[in-house]
Amino acid sequence: MARLTYPNYSSHCGWNAMLPAREARAALEGDIRVRYAVIGAGYTGVAAAWRLAELDPTAEIVLLESGSVGEGSSARNSGFLGRRVMPKDASDDMAAKAQILSRYQAEGFDWLKDRIDAHGIDCQLKRTGYIRTAATERGRAVVEAARDIARKNAIPHEVLSRLDLERRIGTAYYTIGLHLEDNYLLQPAALIRGLADALPSQVTLHENTPVLAMRHDDKWRLETPNGVVTADKVVLATNGFITKFGYLKSRLVTIYTYAAVTAAMPDADSRWAGADADWGVLPSHRLGTTLRRIGDNRLMVRSLYSYEDELDEPRVIRALRTRFERRWPALRHVPFEYVWGGTTALTMNGSPWWGRVDEDLYASGGCNGGGIVKGTLLGKHMAEMMTGHGDQSELFASLGLANWIAPEPFRAMGFRVISAYERHRAGLEM
Ligand SMILES: Cc1cc2nc3c(=O)[nH]c(=O)nc-3n(C[C@H](O)[C@H](O)[C@H](O)COP(=O)(O)OP(=O)(O)OC[C@H]3O[C@@H](n4cnc5c(N)ncnc54)[C@H](O)[C@@H]3O)c2cc1C
Repeated sequence: MARLTYPNYSSHCGWNAMLPAREARAALEGDIRVRYAVIGAGYTGVAAAWRLAELDPTAEIVLLESGSVGEGSSARNSGFLGRRVMPKDASDDMAAKAQILSRYQAEGFDWLKDRIDAHGIDCQLKRTGYIRTAATERGRAVVEAARDIARKNAIPHEVLSRLDLERRIGTAYYTIGLHLEDNYLLQPAALIRGLADALPSQVTLHENTPVLAMRHDDKWRLETPNGVVTADKVVLATNGFITKFGYLKSRLVTIYTYAAVTAAMPDADSRWAGADADWGVLPSHRLGTTLRRIGDNRLMVRSLYSYEDELDEPRVIRALRTRFERRWPALRHVPFEYVWGGTTALTMNGSPWWGRVDEDLYASGGCNGGGIVKGTLLGKHMAEMMTGHGDQSELFASLGLANWIAPEPFRAMGFRVISAYERHRAGLEM
């Protein structure tokens, strides 16, 4: 079997670099035999391993991570999460659907929150809400539709004018904003590191241990650089990299998206970040730009997508600087201190794919831009499914399953065409 590829980023994760150094757990050395092997120590894999330990307390569980925890996508993201799901439109049908989904979203969120509290994980979780913003007429219509949905469903919100936005987040770039109060921001590297370090004792985490090949005879054999894991059951919690194992190729697309954080700004500059101590901005178009204030004196910009491969750094920096300087022309002199890319898995219909993919082999991926809570939720439920606990039928029915995507070369061509069209529609929301 050809060697599997795994994430190999060209730069470090900025969120991780802003934290004190952490010592990675030892790589696997030698051969081991376990009941469960979970591949990938992101939110999905950690939740799956943790829940397996709760449900099968005598089982030995190994969690294998190709890199180090704090350097994967679970740390590279923007740290937005919520406890409820907004209905997609203002109809009664969507309101009813969103109510069911919100119950599951709350379950995933509360699972994380309980562990944050129980283990004192200092991930700066704050209920700041986030602001959906628009700079274009098309974007304004999206924000106004979101306002109508929030009104109809009694979701706490505030409509912000250009002046309100300028005062609160320091940029007059946007013409309208919708502050949705019931949402949270956190430091994603601190959360995933904290969770991995608090795993139950029967879960052994090996970092810097990529699975290079996998085969099934009577058991699963996972080949890593310095040892083989023999396991009864295996979970692929590698998100977009599930496809490298030969599974879900017609369901998931792996994409890269990029972020930058400024150098710490002196007081004279940081007043440009506005009066709100903590804030996060989500765009009105899916190819738009996400923004955050980080601490007293830094700003973060997340934007730009690429298909399957990471873009070279100069190109990423140029694109992110354009977006940053458009919004804060007075901060042109402020350099970026951290710039990084991260992968996630997209699906055509926005639904994830999770469940059994082969004999004693399970996979979960495709949480699109919402994997902190959804990855956690699905990891937890997958462990329940594997051990015969609970009933997943309502969750399957309400989330749906990722639908079929055309194979290569049509897929890459389709991605290029759709992203060119969407970039055009996004315009200044980028
Ligand atoms: C820039 C950016 C911003 C984002 N913003 C948000 C946000 O604000 N909120 C939100 O909820 N989501 C956001 N996301 C999406 C979110 O990060 C993902 O949905 C989430 O990380 C998925 O978690 P996961 O555990 O399923 O996968 P991952 O976090 O990708 O974890 C999978 C792990 O598997 C490991 N792996 C892969 N192959 C192998 C192998 N062969 N052997 C061993 N290990 C392997 C990888 O190293 C990785 O650590 C963002 C993503 C990016 C890139």
